[in-house]
Amino acid sequence: MKRLTAWLAAVVLLTGCAAKPTRYQATFLTLFDTVTTIVGYAESEAAFRETAQAIHDELLVYHRLCNIYEDYDTNLKTVNDNAGVRPVQVDGRIIELLSDCRDYYDRTGGAVNVAMGSVLSIWHEARMTGKLPDPNALEAAMEHCDFDDVILDPVASTVYLADPQMRLDVGAVAKGWAVQQVCEQAEPGLLVSVGGNVCATGSKPDGSWTVGIQNPDGEGSLCTVPLACGAVVTSGDYQRYFTVNGTDYHHIIDPETGYPARHWRSVTVVCEDSGTADALSTALFVLPQAAGQRLLDEFGAEALWVTADGGTVSSPGLMNWKR
Ligand code: AMP
Ligand code: MG
Repeated sequence: MKRLTAWLAAVVLLTGCAAKPTRYQATFLTLFDTVTTIVGYAESEAAFRETAQAIHDELLVYHRLCNIYEDYDTNLKTVNDNAGVRPVQVDGRIIELLSDCRDYYDRTGGAVNVAMGSVLSIWHEARMTGKLPDPNALEAAMEHCDFDDVILDPVASTVYLADPQMRLDVGAVAKGWAVQQVCEQAEPGLLVSVGGNVCATGSKPDGSWTVGIQNPDGEGSLCTVPLACGAVVTSGDYQRYFTVNGTDYHHIIDPETGYPARHWRSVTVVCEDSGTADALSTALFVLPQAAGQRLLDEFGAEALWVTADGGTVSSPGLMNWKR
């Protein structure tokens, strides 16, 4: 009995002595033209830094592959530069991403279309110069957004843009998609956020993470979502925009009109897969509520819409969403 008591006392002592994991956070400004934050619990700062750096380095690979402005070996800029010229052999991850984008395009009825780069580049230029685009140029660019002209060959690992004036822009999907790929390989218990694409790889020591949904009109959260494993992704009109004669022109474009969509201030999607959440947040932003809800039902996702007057509408299961 004495021996057992001594043994138990030793166990209690040892457990008591074990280092308690501490919360650490790392921030990077090098990825996807936005702020990346990684939060986790570790027994030493050095151990956490190593984990965070490894996640950063993996995300950097996707950042470079998806870049359409700068050359990094062969990437999506190479594909765009060779539109109508030749198939380009690319990293298999580009093929996987574009295959998923094709799927999102089909299932959202074209609401999210990464083959719309010719239109999106006109709006990108407009944001840079602060001048509204030429409507004729927009109308002409709208003729070069047919996803059937994106020819993927998974066996040869090539992409060919059959329309010489087509351009790819994966901005609506790439961040969430990359975060998903990296989080699937990461250790549990981390919270990774790339410009508002938030993904949890498991709960923290004391339970779920709490993710705030940003108020489009300022600091602070409209509400919070508990998240242990899965993604919370927001598309909002406040993220990138310019103003002409008192009207804001933001960065999420309705493929039907070629102009910024006007249904919502923001849409946040909660779902298991971060790539799907990213694609859906953009799609729901350009769709009316009923069409968006149909997609949520199909994908098993939930959403919070913020209306023009700052009100909120949530899908039926949002408040019970627990993963
Ligand atoms: P997100 O913040 O995920 O909604 O993505 C917005 C970005 O996706 C924009 O900056 C554009 O590059 C691109 N984009 C905007 N509208 C669309 C759309 N309807 N389909 C595909 N990409 C889009
Ligand atoms: Mg998106």
